[in-house]
Amino acid sequence: MDLSVVNHEDYFAKIGDDHKFPINKFGELANYLLKKKIVEKFHKPYPCSEETLKRAHSEKYINDVKNKTLDQNSIKKIGFPLVDSVVKRSLVATGGTVLASKLAIKNGVACNTAGGSHHANFNGGAGYCVFNDVAVAAQYLLDRGLAGKILIIDLDVHQGNGSADIFRTNNNVFTFSMHSKSNYPAKKSISDCDVELENDMEDKEYLRILRFYLNQLNEENFDFVFYIAGVDIHFNDRLGKLKISDEGVRERDEVVTENFFSQGIPLCGVLGGGYNKDFNKLVELHSFLHQSCAKLL
Ligand SMILES: [Zn+2]
Repeated sequence: MDLSVVNHEDYFAKIGDDHKFPINKFGELANYLLKKKIVEKFHKPYPCSEETLKRAHSEKYINDVKNKTLDQNSIKKIGFPLVDSVVKRSLVATGGTVLASKLAIKNGVACNTAGGSHHANFNGGAGYCVFNDVAVAAQYLLDRGLAGKILIIDLDVHQGNGSADIFRTNNNVFTFSMHSKSNYPAKKSISDCDVELENDMEDKEYLRILRFYLNQLNEENFDFVFYIAGVDIHFNDRLGKLKISDEGVRERDEVVTENFFSQGIPLCGVLGGGYNKDFNKLVELHSFLHQSCAKLL
């Protein structure tokens, strides 16, 4: 069976050529997955509806984004200009994770080529995240009765503080975040399980800690998993503070996806962050998620 992967050309947004965020990676990743025959054809998402967004965000915030009436301070916190293509991108990438989660239930595993906007919370965005796509999709699955006990396993180098805040009092969603202790956000939120990593950690130690916690998570009876596969753990990342090699990132993705797939727990993989100094390497690192999932089928 072919891996189901969700992609849309509107994942690219016009944020300015000199912007620090590597927005071109979304288009390049899609090309790479096709060229390497990891994916044959993409599933195309619709923009997320307001009704679905409201499962994880306030009506005021949704409308302020859609109407571009968000105040300057809130826009600054997000880090993207609030222009039409950014609004469109935020809606379609969130719709993409919702679609990927449904495909994961159908096929055991599925991925988005964007998503993992884990810094966004109920009332606002932050750190290049407008809508918390994973939170929206998780609540969508719960509300529709498609899942009952969801795990968000967030291995981006930054803490998934938005997801932690949104699900703070929700017993049906378990938030797990393994991140760099000294990295953004300065003030961390409280996930159901936070694992803080010291600077300059290398593959062996990182993978040992990951395996330890996966064994613990396997004691819970999750019936759905969102995996945020940020590649900013790589040693050559602009924003990461860890020293994980190419092979370390690949092994991480294989260990996580195989762990849940082998237990028959549907897994939806999303991109998370990545700001590598080498753009081609960045695209390749992000593709490890899709390669690992394709290998399972
Ligand atoms: Zn990150």
